[in-house]
Amino acid sequence: MAGRYAPSPSGDLHFGNLRTALLAWLFARSEGKQFLMRVEDIDEQRSSKESAESQLADLSALGLDWDGDVLYQSTRYDAYRAALEKLDTYECYCSRRDIQEASRAPHVAPGVYPGTCRELKEEERVEKRASLAAQNRHPAIRLRAQVTSFDFYDRLRGQQTGPVDDFILLRGGQEPGWAYNLAVVVDDAFQGVDQVVRGDDLLDSAARQAYLGSLLGTPAPEYIHVPLVLNAHGQRLAKRDGAVTLKEMLIDAPLHTIFSRLASSLGYEGVNSAPQLLEIFDPTTLSREPFIY
Ligand code: GLU
Repeated sequence: MAGRYAPSPSGDLHFGNLRTALLAWLFARSEGKQFLMRVEDIDEQRSSKESAESQLADLSALGLDWDGDVLYQSTRYDAYRAALEKLDTYECYCSRRDIQEASRAPHVAPGVYPGTCRELKEEERVEKRASLAAQNRHPAIRLRAQVTSFDFYDRLRGQQTGPVDDFILLRGGQEPGWAYNLAVVVDDAFQGVDQVVRGDDLLDSAARQAYLGSLLGTPAPEYIHVPLVLNAHGQRLAKRDGAVTLKEMLIDAPLHTIFSRLASSLGYEGVNSAPQLLEIFDPTTLSREPFIY
C-alpha cells in the first residue's frame, strides 16, 4: 500500500508545504510503503503546468522520490463523474451569500451547509435552475448525506469524530469544477493510498472524506494530520511571509543547509540529506505542536 503527497499547483511550495511533503515521504518510506505523487490541479483557474513542474522539481531537489508516474487530477474527470453517478445527490442553487445568511441561524454549526436546497420541490428547482441559467451559471451538486458526523482514525490524535454535511461534489457557477473532497477520495482509492499525511488544517475534511469513502465502498486510509508551520505572529506560514520558497531560500543558503533546517524543524539536528534523515526518523517522537518559522 502507499502514502502520497498531493500538492495544488498554484505557486511554489513554501517551507511549511516542503516540511509536510518531507514528513509524508518519511512516514511512507520508513514503513516500506510506496510513495506516490498526485498533482491536484482540478481548480483550473488557479493551477498551472509550470507551477506543478516547479513544485515537483523542488521536491526532487530535496531528495524526495516517488514511485511511478505523477497522477494529474485534470486527467481524472471521467472517474469523478462515475463516482458522482453512484451517489445520492441534489442540485444546490445557493450563492455564497445565501449560505452565509442561512448559516447565521442559531442551530447551524459554522462551516456546515444548512441544507437550504435539500428538500426543494421540483417546481422550485425548475424556477431556480432557470434563474441561474439566465445568469449563465450552473448549480452545484451536493451529497445528500445520511449522517451529521463520522468517525475516523488519526495516528497523532487518535480516534476522532468530525462533522459531515451535504458537502459539494461538483462546484457550480460559471465554470463548474470537481470538488476537492470528491477528487481526493476517488484518487486515494484508485492509487491504493492507505496513508494520508497532510497539514492539520485539513483535519476538518477527514470525516467528510471517510464518510464519502464508505459510500463508495473504499476503506478509509490511516490519517496523519501533522502540525503546521506558523509565522512569528502565530499565523499559518504563507508565501507572503517572504523567503519561504525553496528558490527564495536558495538565494542565501545552499541546498543542504535548507534541508538541515527542515530536519531541525522536525527535531533532528545536523542532518543534511533525505536518506540520512530516513535512517534515523522515528515517527513516534514527532512533536504535536506547530513549528514557528
Ligand atoms: N491539495 C491539497 C493541498 O495542497 C492537499 C490535499 C490532501 O493532502 O488531501 O492543500
